[in-house]
Amino acid sequence: MGAVYTRVVTRQAPPIGPYVRQPASVVPWDPRTLTVAEAVTALVRDRRPDLVVEHIGSTAVPGLPGKGIVDLLIPTEPADVAAVTALLFDLGFGPQPGDDPFPPSRPLLVGSMEVDGTTFRIHCHVQPRGEEMVRDLAFRDALRADPELTAAYAALKSEIVAGGYHQSYQYTYRKQAWIAAVHRRLGVRRTPIAPPATIGILGGGQLGRMLAQAARSMGYRVAVLDPDPDCPAAAVADHLVLGSYDDVGAALRLADLCAVVTYELEHVAAAVVDALEVHVPVRPGRYPLVSTQDRIAERRFIELAGGSVAPWCEVRTTDELRAAADALGLPLRLKAATGGYDGRSQIRIATNGELDGAIERLGRPPGASLLAEVELAFRDELSVVVARGPDGETAAFPVALNVHDAGILVESVAPAPIPRETADRATQIGLDLATAMGLCGTLTAELFWVSDDLIVNELAPRVHNSGHWTLDGAETSQFEQHIRAITGLGLGSPTALAPTAVVNLLGTGPVRDARLTGLGEALADPSVHLHLYDKRRVFERRKMGHLSAIGQDVDAALERARRARAALHWEGET
Ligand code: ADP
Ligand code: MG
Repeated sequence: MGAVYTRVVTRQAPPIGPYVRQPASVVPWDPRTLTVAEAVTALVRDRRPDLVVEHIGSTAVPGLPGKGIVDLLIPTEPADVAAVTALLFDLGFGPQPGDDPFPPSRPLLVGSMEVDGTTFRIHCHVQPRGEEMVRDLAFRDALRADPELTAAYAALKSEIVAGGYHQSYQYTYRKQAWIAAVHRRLGVRRTPIAPPATIGILGGGQLGRMLAQAARSMGYRVAVLDPDPDCPAAAVADHLVLGSYDDVGAALRLADLCAVVTYELEHVAAAVVDALEVHVPVRPGRYPLVSTQDRIAERRFIELAGGSVAPWCEVRTTDELRAAADALGLPLRLKAATGGYDGRSQIRIATNGELDGAIERLGRPPGASLLAEVELAFRDELSVVVARGPDGETAAFPVALNVHDAGILVESVAPAPIPRETADRATQIGLDLATAMGLCGTLTAELFWVSDDLIVNELAPRVHNSGHWTLDGAETSQFEQHIRAITGLGLGSPTALAPTAVVNLLGTGPVRDARLTGLGEALADPSVHLHLYDKRRVFERRKMGHLSAIGQDVDAALERARRARAALHWEGET
């Protein structure tokens, strides 16, 4: 009789209710969360007695305040993840909401259950048995055994919430470094991805090439995905997979070779990352990619994370552009939401007369999403490259001061000759944004220094042209740092060794074979270093290489690098 009754109830309403997202807030521990954990355990084991359900997280530690969510962990074999996930869906659990879900290889499902008229939210992690699970359980057991640790953890949580980080993922990322320190004390360290593992790089341009050079000098093997067999990274890679950045099949062939995959450009299709994440970690991660590859999403992310941006509007039509000009004033910058770089796909609008036809001049398909933003009269452009490892530890390179010409970087010096306080603020902005996106790798924040404010212009979840000075001027190069972060090797010192300047070597003239003259004269100064990217063809404004120099101060360094640049010419230059 009882069995028949149970089956009927199960069919009409699943035992697990829907999940409602809420801002992170810290509430006292509630003993009824234990009842919820036991009830879900019984439901799961009723279907699959072979499964174990572990109660983890704050509610698993009596007395510990937290978000009040019942966190459960089901350890599985990798091949069993899909079946366990299906079972949970069947019980009424739903997919993880939000922009930054766990990958399908270790999904999080969400649901709720009522006890005495109170609804308890539930997170159910399906996780292949391994280090992550061992760390989670060790952390829980340490908290249960140590009231002082529990009190310190509770204090950290209140501090994060008091600081305004209510967005649940930011709350989680901010705790990460502290928890990792506990893991280290407990002796449950993360095992790094060690050489000679193969690192996959989506994109084979100059950034991919220099990442590959750093990886290979550390003993890693490198596989590159790029549509061009003669791309700059080709000569340095162990394997080259030919395919475009949205070719899922090609990306999966790359994944087959790799222990971890990274990207050197943010124009990688999110679908490619989704497909890769089933097989291999993708770092800096899916969320850092989707929150920076679209300028509108990027501005929303920066605002959410507490950063400042120039006043902006999303526009799709000339009428909307006119309304934006009324609201924002002129001059403004109109930028394609996706696909732009080096000043391409953006125009300046200075007068009302230029509003008509502006969208057509940008050359985007009708109805495409565009960003209209106030043009700022900045004192200087700054950038900061920061790194964050898988455990949330961070390091920031000294701030660089950059000069652009029509949107393309031409010169960069570091450490920037700016007040210490400004540099510290710029650094903190970079670190905060890296943490807010749960980054694992490097992040570059381009900033406008406007009167006394620092306004974020653009984010790139990768190494950056304005960080090239680190190759010759810092203890660790940005490329080595990125590889150390994504492999979990631990970050290197970002300290500057000397004031350093970089002058970009841009192409000139029509498209033709690239041959450089004047090298002897350029390198007559022994403190000047040549970096060429091995691009076969040169054309106007193409980034072909860079020159760097150190000096007593950044002005002296810049003068040397400029003098060397002036000696170089592309054959056939007009
Ligand atoms: P890209 O992706 O091409 O680097 P950016 O948005 O960074 O695009 O723009 C390139 C350059 O154009 C900036 O470094 C800056 O010099 C100039 N610029 C862009 N937006 C603004 C703005 N709102 N105000 C002033 N200058 C801007
Ligand atoms: Mg830029």
